Amino acid sequence: MTAGQWINGTARTSQSGDTLAVVNPANSAVVDDVDLAGPADVDNAVGAASAAFAEWSRVPPSIRAEALFALAEKMQAREAEYARVESEQSGKPIRLASEFDVPGSIDNAAFFAGISRQLSGSAAAEWDGEHTSTIRREPIGVVGSIAPWNYPLQMAMWKMLPAIAAGNTIVLKPSEMTPLTTLMLAEDATAAGMPDGVFNVVTGTGPVAGEALMSHPNIAMVSFTGSTRVGHRVAELATAGLKRLHLELGGKAPFLVFDDADIEAAAQGAVAGSLINTGQDCTAATRAYVHRSRYPEFVERTASLMASVVLGDTASLDTDLGPLISPDQQAKVAGMVERAIAAGATAVTGGNIPGGPLANGCYYEPTLITGADQAAEIVQEEVFGPVLAALPFDTDDEGLALANDTRYGLAASAWTTDVVRAHRASRELQAGCVWINDHIPIVSEMPHGGYKQSGFGKDMSNYSFEEYTQIKHVSTDITGVAHKEWHRTIFKNPDA
Ligand code: NAD
Repeated sequence: MTAGQWINGTARTSQSGDTLAVVNPANSAVVDDVDLAGPADVDNAVGAASAAFAEWSRVPPSIRAEALFALAEKMQAREAEYARVESEQSGKPIRLASEFDVPGSIDNAAFFAGISRQLSGSAAAEWDGEHTSTIRREPIGVVGSIAPWNYPLQMAMWKMLPAIAAGNTIVLKPSEMTPLTTLMLAEDATAAGMPDGVFNVVTGTGPVAGEALMSHPNIAMVSFTGSTRVGHRVAELATAGLKRLHLELGGKAPFLVFDDADIEAAAQGAVAGSLINTGQDCTAATRAYVHRSRYPEFVERTASLMASVVLGDTASLDTDLGPLISPDQQAKVAGMVERAIAAGATAVTGGNIPGGPLANGCYYEPTLITGADQAAEIVQEEVFGPVLAALPFDTDDEGLALANDTRYGLAASAWTTDVVRAHRASRELQAGCVWINDHIPIVSEMPHGGYKQSGFGKDMSNYSFEEYTQIKHVSTDITGVAHKEWHRTIFKNPDA
């Protein structure tokens, strides 16, 4: 049993007495049990974060940088353990966890350690000739954050690093299904010298611990990553408390292949971009729009590559694809594919829950769907599984319009060898990230965040650091005059 709460620099069990098994979806084995936070635990964590804010918000930025660099080192020292636990709790293949999730998270910690020492703003000036104006960029207070299960460690770090680097303190709720690496992170933060109360973790369910956190009166900012559906509820709670709000929500990324594209590159990119993390990636390629003249070639090559992907034991370095997170997610994906086929679409490859030894886990075959309508559920709704729908188009305008015909706007890609088309697509695609001739790569230096119903706010980069600060204008009189010029608009006679 692992204590699910990390409050004020120590592991604690919850006061609720409720527990939950963390289950490896690759084989249904129980990895660990954790206890679940109730409102009293959330209140304790917010209390610890509030108490820590006064000091943490005032320490020199170099002290914050030191703690974050030390955290990156602590994590590096147990990189393999992080990767193993991340793989076990979420069903990620170990290759993905150890080559993507964990090194990316460590790089993020190092990046925010550096950025914590840079506060950008306007130069001081005397705009009216009588006052010197300066801008202060200050931390906001206690941040309440909620993270999803698809990239448990990375999402926790995308939330905690900019907040802490900017001088805030934080209470973070991981998904109750995948809290283990977030708890390791809290332990390492304390070991790295981060003062008690700066980073607190409450493991609990959304409706109980999540709602208690989002509506706590001492939370100044709400930062949420998860589905658009829950994002709406979080926005209601945050709005009721007039809290600053940052939402990273769902996605339905288009993958637009023009007639001049390198089809081999596009097919390779479509397979990697749609199957990453078994498709449980908010930026995953989900809708491939391919010029009709290249459509058969693209479908054939993508289907054959997809069929070669190896599903299996997630602890093996030879496994390409792991399971979905849970039986519920598996049933959701299977149901969406079944309904698409019932409506006339075809699964060119995949479309099944695999049997044999994989039947013990929540696996689903990599699936390429053709023949679906633009309005179909499989094209419009987030599947969050290893499923790509391919549709043909005839003109550039039509391709761009179909790509934008979604309520989501997190990411998109365009495939072309024509520089004009590449630039036009970058401008026209309504998404927070547009890749040209690739799909998925992210870097700590660049922002990640949505347009439209994919939310607002940026993770990673200096933009996210700035979001966890508030701006203060300081105006200082430099005349030393008692009856200032502007006073005459209120009272003319200074000598009365
Ligand atoms: P989810 O919305 O079901 O849950 C996310 C988190 O919210 C979990 O910690 C959950 O416990 C909590 N939660 C649930 N109900 C709540 C409530 N009423 N109040 C407060 N908190 C509540 O999402 P998920 O299934 O864990 O994750 C998948 C979703 O996350 C997908 O839609 C995916 O696109 C999205 N996602 C977005 C990004 C991004 O950067 N935009 C990144 C990763 C995942």
